[in-house]
Amino acid sequence: MAQDNMTQNYVISQTKLINPHDKNTSVRTFVVTPIETNCYAVINDGKALVIDPGTAGAEIAQSLTDVHIEAVVVTHGHGDHVSGIKAFLDSFDYKIPFAVGAYDEKRLKTAVSASNLGLPYDDDAPKPDVLLKAGDKLAAGQVLFEVLHTPGHTEGGIVLYGDGLAFTGDTLFKGSAGRTDFPGGDSATLKKSLEHLKKKLAPDTLVFPGHGPKTTMEEELHTNPFLT
Ligand SMILES: [Zn+2]
Repeated sequence: MAQDNMTQNYVISQTKLINPHDKNTSVRTFVVTPIETNCYAVINDGKALVIDPGTAGAEIAQSLTDVHIEAVVVTHGHGDHVSGIKAFLDSFDYKIPFAVGAYDEKRLKTAVSASNLGLPYDDDAPKPDVLLKAGDKLAAGQVLFEVLHTPGHTEGGIVLYGDGLAFTGDTLFKGSAGRTDFPGGDSATLKKSLEHLKKKLAPDTLVFPGHGPKTTMEEELHTNPFLT
């Protein structure tokens, strides 16, 4: 990747939302370059779980100095979701555990070089501290998120589900679903994962995808061609 491009990654927009299911929880969304990846911080009781700190790790970290980061987790190992992790972790003077779905560990080491999008990313992700499997739980303060293994976009893609919220990475988008033409992608497997989400997520679940606007499971069940 060209050195010149490395400074081009930044936060495009930043928004805050109080969880309608639980007023003690809020979600901060950071949209980052180069392909408008959504990065999230779920905050409860002054503690945050950070999901997919995208390409602009240091800049996102600067916006989260008012909370204690309990862990950083990525929904999958693609460069646009993970390449800012090193800069993010280096921005704090305390140790933050870094977690990834077990089957995507291998993607972290080549997140930049393996990118076939031809886009500038900052860095490969560091070695994870935690390899997640289905049923594992991650905390943001008093709130717990269950790890759902949702392969198809990549082998180790995960969805985090809890407190009436779901962080769906590149598995499920508003009106669409993840691409399956990258290495490790498989459309039949993705279909199974989407079926799993249909059964598992309550209709009033607020869905936060890896790209694009948030939605609800109910809306997707009625309008998303990948779920109908
Ligand atoms: Zn992806």
